[in-house]
Amino acid sequence: GMEDSVHSFKAADLVIELSQTHKAKPDLTNLVFGTVFSDHMLTIEWTNAGGWHKPHIKSLHLACSAMHYAVQLFEGMKAYRGADDKVCLFRPMLNMNRMAKSAERASLLVRTHTGCGTEQTSLLGAEYFRKALYIRAWRGGTGDCTMGGNYGASIYAQHEAVDYGCQQVLWLYGDDHQITEVGTMNMITFKEALATPPLDGIILPGMMRQSILELTRKWGEFKVCERYLTMADLCCALKEGRVKEKFGSGTACVVSPVGCILYQGENLHIPCQEDFPQLASRLMKELTDVQVRWSQTSMQRLF
Ligand code: PMP
Repeated sequence: GMEDSVHSFKAADLVIELSQTHKAKPDLTNLVFGTVFSDHMLTIEWTNAGGWHKPHIKSLHLACSAMHYAVQLFEGMKAYRGADDKVCLFRPMLNMNRMAKSAERASLLVRTHTGCGTEQTSLLGAEYFRKALYIRAWRGGTGDCTMGGNYGASIYAQHEAVDYGCQQVLWLYGDDHQITEVGTMNMITFKEALATPPLDGIILPGMMRQSILELTRKWGEFKVCERYLTMADLCCALKEGRVKEKFGSGTACVVSPVGCILYQGENLHIPCQEDFPQLASRLMKELTDVQVRWSQTSMQRLF
């Protein structure tokens, strides 16, 4: 699959669209690294319907998707004009190989998944897995910010989760496997108390996480705390039948219940009686009600 995709565009198909205006030619005797840019760029588009399109050399379009999730990479390669006036590249295949490797890690190469995921039974719409190969965030890093690089770097692990028949990555942190986030959602566990990890720089401070904390604290029906939960804690609580619900929270889904976690080759089932467990349903209803009510009143204010 991957090989096919990589080789499905050809240099012979190259379309060159030179821009009408050109930047002034730089002083070639005094080139400073990273200060002079070409008027053109090689782009090769990929679409679901058509796969790889013809390679184009054209001026850079600013509406490129790389801006959003930093799904991008760069290569630096050196060229010399020889005495015969021919341009010589210095070991370009080393650059090409490094670029192919980076492209795979950035999920810029298209992988075709054959024979997996088709007969996957979605328990509660969620199966999660964990592998120590990838780390989403670390102390002193940028995991608490919506910076593109955090997302670009995590797409590869997401593809692997799908290969394992799971829907999302459960992001763990540290040797004790603290549960931090799930995909691009915050993680909330309901046992004796409602618990979610504290904002310590490792997790994104989600709007929905904050809203759920505020709302459940207002209810005053159970303890609500921001504290760490490790995989060992979770396994123990599951064994003792203390886990009531587990769900991701985010703007897009509001809440998304977890049915099963694939951890170290074992499926950990979260006991839930219904498709949408009690607390998750109640939060879903109350929070969407607030959103709808608020939008209706602000609409009235507008008109
Ligand atoms: N964690 C991450 C890593 C996210 O990208 C998001 C969504 N931006 C969330 C959590 C959920 O945040 P919110 O509730 O603000 O949508």
